[in-house]
Amino acid sequence: MSEVRLADVVRWLERRYPPRTAESWDAVGLVAGDPAQPVRRVLLAVDPVAAVADEALAWGADLLVTHHPLLLRPVHSVAATTFKGALLHRLVRGGVGLYAAHTNADAATGGVADALADVLGLVDTEPLVPVPAEPLDKHVVFVPVDAVERLVDALAAAGAGAIGAYARCAWVTSGAGTFTPGPGAQPAVGSVGRAEQVAEARVEMVAPRRLRRTVVAAMRAAHPYEEPAFDVLELAAWPGATGTGRVGRLAEPQSLQAFARRVAAALPATPQGIRYAGDPAGLVTRVAVVGGSGDSLFDAVRAADVDAYVTSDLRHHPASELRERALHEGQGRPYLVDTAHFASEWPWLARAARDLEADAAAAGLTVETRVSTLRTDPWTGHVPSDEDPLPGHA
Ligand SMILES: [Zn+2]
Repeated sequence: MSEVRLADVVRWLERRYPPRTAESWDAVGLVAGDPAQPVRRVLLAVDPVAAVADEALAWGADLLVTHHPLLLRPVHSVAATTFKGALLHRLVRGGVGLYAAHTNADAATGGVADALADVLGLVDTEPLVPVPAEPLDKHVVFVPVDAVERLVDALAAAGAGAIGAYARCAWVTSGAGTFTPGPGAQPAVGSVGRAEQVAEARVEMVAPRRLRRTVVAAMRAAHPYEEPAFDVLELAAWPGATGTGRVGRLAEPQSLQAFARRVAAALPATPQGIRYAGDPAGLVTRVAVVGGSGDSLFDAVRAADVDAYVTSDLRHHPASELRERALHEGQGRPYLVDTAHFASEWPWLARAARDLEADAAAAGLTVETRVSTLRTDPWTGHVPSDEDPLPGHA
């Protein structure tokens, strides 16, 4: 059996978490490592911190895959005198590659948002903010009936007519085309100065917009006419199956307090625990989730008409205003459920590890994976407040 190379693992990761789906400000992909180096062991973790590097080195990992990028903001030195440089030096010296899948992993099917929705038991999930599906054109070409098959073949070879698992999809209708070749024309049918009528077909095929020039060039090359008649129509943008966050429902409604307990039980324990905002007895059925910091998505959450929103890093003002607005507008929803940032992203690691092993197996290869059990939440302690809500004001 041949060895797995780092380049193979990168290819498998980027098929599941395409880098082009990352946010424009993000920095994802291979941070350190030689694509030709063999990879037998892959450690997965939320954060590229020193303790995780220790774990990778101690286990003999060849690659560390993290959710958060080590080098999100530009650096001008990776000298071992800096904490990031020191970490990189240790990984490189130990032969451990580093790879980050961040907002591309958030958006993906089987990514961070999907994994969070799954561990909370949400069903019928869809993206909270869908990434638009790939923009499409429709190519409409008028061609003599006897040239239809050749034209469809040529357009399909150029990338048109692919719909899901189907290839060479086309719609063909027939009619009559009429034209009068002018002086200087070299008509494939008819002669100069005489009105001609030809049995023609209208061929319609869709193609990714990025292939527009290739498809039109293939059409011109395959078409018997000197001046083919054709239209290129831009199809409406359509929501895709991936995107930020997920919205789904619980199989059975439960109270906000019970739901918050469910969240606590499903996620790794952190000093913060789970905070919630809203009536503890209020019923929760429809839920939105966003792994990591989610208070920039409040507009989308309100539009999704959910009972509760599970995310992390909720700050006083956005949270307070969302709750005031919810109460003012009548229903008191959405309730908020706030987790530690690390906790809401951690469930993805097990899924990513499983998927990576499956991708290797599908290629007839093997990689051993391990999910880091280190809690990389920066908070280390929690003291519950006193019962007296405002000490000194009894
Ligand atoms: Zn995060």
